[in-house]
Amino acid sequence: MLISGHDLLDVAHQNSFAIPAFNVADYHMFNGLIEISEKKNSPVIIAIHPNEVNLLGFDTLRAIRERLHRSPVPASIHWDHGATADQMVAAIQGGFTSVMLDASAEAFDENIAQTGRAVEIAHAVGVSVEGELGTIGKMESADGGIIYTDPSDAVTFVERTGVDSLAVAIGTRHGIYPSNITPKLKLDLLREIKAAVGIPLVLHGGSNNPDDEIGEAARSGVNKINISSDIKVAFFDKVREVLQDTSLREPDAIMPPAVEAMQAVASQKIDLFGAAGKADLYRTPAAYKVDLFGTGKGETY
Ligand SMILES: [Zn+2]
Repeated sequence: MLISGHDLLDVAHQNSFAIPAFNVADYHMFNGLIEISEKKNSPVIIAIHPNEVNLLGFDTLRAIRERLHRSPVPASIHWDHGATADQMVAAIQGGFTSVMLDASAEAFDENIAQTGRAVEIAHAVGVSVEGELGTIGKMESADGGIIYTDPSDAVTFVERTGVDSLAVAIGTRHGIYPSNITPKLKLDLLREIKAAVGIPLVLHGGSNNPDDEIGEAARSGVNKINISSDIKVAFFDKVREVLQDTSLREPDAIMPPAVEAMQAVASQKIDLFGAAGKADLYRTPAAYKVDLFGTGKGETY
């Protein structure tokens, strides 16, 4: 069932686990991710970056919405790292139930102004908003360029903007770490921010970090962890391997093994985040099991 980001994350916040937000730019990958989420009985967030929206197109977005509507697991479709309010309105019209307007590179007051405006627009139509405070690191920068989130700034930011969730900078970087860098998360800082703001926190750059740190983050206040690189590496490494056989050309011979390799990684993330089986926490049979089409099967919607 497709629900808002707020409703999805609130249960994770109350029960101290994290929901994977898988970045999707392709329908095969999307379908593989919703199937593994259903198999694991896990809530899921389908994250789509504006560049990925361009590749998918709005018609595919509609197909993704339809598939999520009829899924037995709770899901949100999240607009990842949006840049402008105009783009955000188009995304909401396209069917996203959660959006992120990333003004974290702006000065503090400007970040508050832009994010607050996004909240005003999105909340008017029941769509949730993720804000970001601090700077998530980049691989290109020697020190990562990380500006850690300050807990008292976080309180001010959440109060003044009304965001539903907050992406925090506690030591992750976007992408895959080079072999000479060992990421280290500031878990004490994370706990301090969580205690101060009391809303769902989000971890970006969640690929390629040590499992024990990510697992601990999921138990310590992070309720959404963005996974992009790890699933894409698994998918395309397998595509490259399969295509060693140069006679292959049919998608139904090439894609299924790649989807399976991606699902193995997604499944491990679901377990690591404590999300397996948690779809049960959202089910209120009277509300969701309605015999919509008179088939007697009680379709879930
Ligand atoms: Zn990100």
